[in-house]
Amino acid sequence: MILKLRTVTMELKIVRLLNKRKKLTSKEKQHFISLQKGYEGEVLFDTYISQLKCDCFVLNDLLLEINNTTFQIDSLLITPQRIYLFEVKNYQGNYVYESDKLFKRPHLEVVNPLHQLSRSESLLRQLLLKLGTNPQIDASVVFINPAFTLYQAPLDKPIIFQTQIYHYMEKINQGDSKLSAKHRKLADQLVSLDQKEYKQTQIEPYDYTQLQKGITCLSCFSFSVIVEKGKCICKKCGFQETVSRAVLRSVEEFHTLFPSEKLTTNVIHDWCQIVQLKQRIRRILASNYKIIGVNQWTYYT
Ligand SMILES: [Zn+2]
Repeated sequence: MILKLRTVTMELKIVRLLNKRKKLTSKEKQHFISLQKGYEGEVLFDTYISQLKCDCFVLNDLLLEINNTTFQIDSLLITPQRIYLFEVKNYQGNYVYESDKLFKRPHLEVVNPLHQLSRSESLLRQLLLKLGTNPQIDASVVFINPAFTLYQAPLDKPIIFQTQIYHYMEKINQGDSKLSAKHRKLADQLVSLDQKEYKQTQIEPYDYTQLQKGITCLSCFSFSVIVEKGKCICKKCGFQETVSRAVLRSVEEFHTLFPSEKLTTNVIHDWCQIVQLKQRIRRILASNYKIIGVNQWTYYT
């Protein structure tokens, strides 16, 4: 049973929007690709987890804290016998393991996820002890990408390669005991301790003037959207939606990118560009958000 779903992080949401609305620098692009690939890898791993038949609680994407130290867990599985902790990596290409370090061939050193894993495991253990329990923890790094090769892979490290996931899940499935109220309580405690979002992100500062304005197509993400007979129509792919839906989508995008900016008719009118009448924007905002203030000081929340 999934007790905590995986959702797209705010950082990835923002970077996706920036990618659509401005030209990313190569550093930003790298960051975007790595976030996107990481997320795709985790979602792919979820498909394996969702096929488990044994009694278990699944907690995705936990951000926990113990003694002022924050740690993140991609996937946590509570079974009657033990807790499984998975660090999922979507690395692709040829890598080599050498003196406890990981290199993308030929020579690019990357973070060794085994170090991340042992840090998370140790912090999780401290947290569980604080919660009054000391279960066995099986922690592993999962290399989810089928196009990943690790030369000189150490035999004594907790690594699960893509070709081994199925077998590993089968092993977990073999347990036939049932979860108890004690497990449920622990799972609920961990979910309630989740810190939701990283406060620090690697996003470079951006401002309104740098970004392309306009409504983007929900289907092909292009800016080739025009307003015609009460509909927003994409000239590129033909996708249609009502103007109010398209405007509300754009309002959400604006709010994600500029959470502290007030939503006013003028701001959204400029942000959407293609809706000519301000009155129309005002109506859409008024019927979907709470109005605060009057006349030119009106904003929506
Ligand atoms: Zn389109």
